[in-house]
Amino acid sequence: MMKKLKHWFKTTFFFKIDPEERNKIRDKVMENDHRVYKFLLPILMFIEGIMLVFSFINHGPAPTNVTEHIYRGLYAFLIVMCFGVLLLLDHFFKKRRSTPYFVFVGIFLLSIMLWGTGISLLDSYSVKGENLTYFAIALIGTSAFLTLEPWVASFACLIAAVVYDVIYFSVPAFNATPNPLFFASHCVICGICIISATFNFVRLIGSIRLEMKVSSMNESLSEKALVDDLTKVFNRRYLTEHIDVPLDYSENGSGVIMLDIDHFKRLNDTYGHQVGDECLSLLGIAINNLIRDKEAYCVRYGGEEFLIFFKNISKGDLEIYAETLRRRIEKMKVSISGGVQLRYTISCGLAKAEDGISYNNLINQADEALYRAKETRNTVSF
Ligand code: GH3
Ligand code: MG
Ligand code: MG
Repeated sequence: MMKKLKHWFKTTFFFKIDPEERNKIRDKVMENDHRVYKFLLPILMFIEGIMLVFSFINHGPAPTNVTEHIYRGLYAFLIVMCFGVLLLLDHFFKKRRSTPYFVFVGIFLLSIMLWGTGISLLDSYSVKGENLTYFAIALIGTSAFLTLEPWVASFACLIAAVVYDVIYFSVPAFNATPNPLFFASHCVICGICIISATFNFVRLIGSIRLEMKVSSMNESLSEKALVDDLTKVFNRRYLTEHIDVPLDYSENGSGVIMLDIDHFKRLNDTYGHQVGDECLSLLGIAINNLIRDKEAYCVRYGGEEFLIFFKNISKGDLEIYAETLRRRIEKMKVSISGGVQLRYTISCGLAKAEDGISYNNLINQADEALYRAKETRNTVSF
């Protein structure tokens, strides 16, 4: 129980999770928050503007009352602060810099809470009584809207409460004596603030995690739909999608190897389909190993027929790669039941993209070369 609570505090309240996931979530939160700020801050500026106008209507342009001047100063301060924050947050949002973005959101959160503290103290002073309305609205309101890690909102709200108490009880003008009801109301306000900040954060993170899971599932699904299950190379659908990629006709440009397992029907008939599948799977691994660091991709073109496309390759290198693969397969021993080890071979037909040849004609050329290689089998042919 204690362990679970500790874990919850670490991962939720202080948001200590894997840095990579944390950064991804922060980016998403930033996107989400930015929409809220762009909507909320102008409203806040508008409300403060109305308060200023009312103050001018009710008390004239130059009131004798000093507190009215301070009220006006606080309204104007909030308008200027909201405007500045809006510009700054917009700047960091556009630059995709989430760390300074959230630092400013934290500073803004604390400033709004302190602003609420100041205006509540002013209310208490001018009406000579306790007035926590602004204080409560500022603390609870901001902590519910700003989606920072819960500890930031909680910390800011505790600072605001302490500042309030120190000023209220130490400045003689307030003529206040500490009483339990006052502290209890502070505790309730801070409690609601912490709970709403935590609730808001947990809800948002939950929906972002779900969104990320769905998009990664979609990604892996679409990737899976293009990869052959047995051989782990691309399938024909991938080739259909890539067929319009322009070929490079230079000396070190595009080239293709078409390869086919020799006497595969016989192998299947002798050892069974499962052994045949094992041979196909091993061939897929060998091909993927061969092209791992190259600008190349492999497609399972037919049952036991593969196409390897190279982006930048010379005629000589194309032959070397095909010959390397042919030799590797020739040397490979496939262990089957009963301690038997079998071997199989492949034949390769090569074609190099020249004179504006189309994708389909390049494949046909490789097919013709493969046909020639099949005359002897276990060979490479141009
Ligand atoms: P060649 O040397 O001339 O290429 O002879 P071959 O027997 O390999 O050629 P053929 O095209 O006649 O035979 C291909 C065989 O490949 C037929 C089919 O049973 C087998 N095959 C195709 N797809 C699969 C598969 O996914 N798994 C298994 N085990 N066999 C497959
Ligand atoms: Mg074959
Ligand atoms: Mg075949």
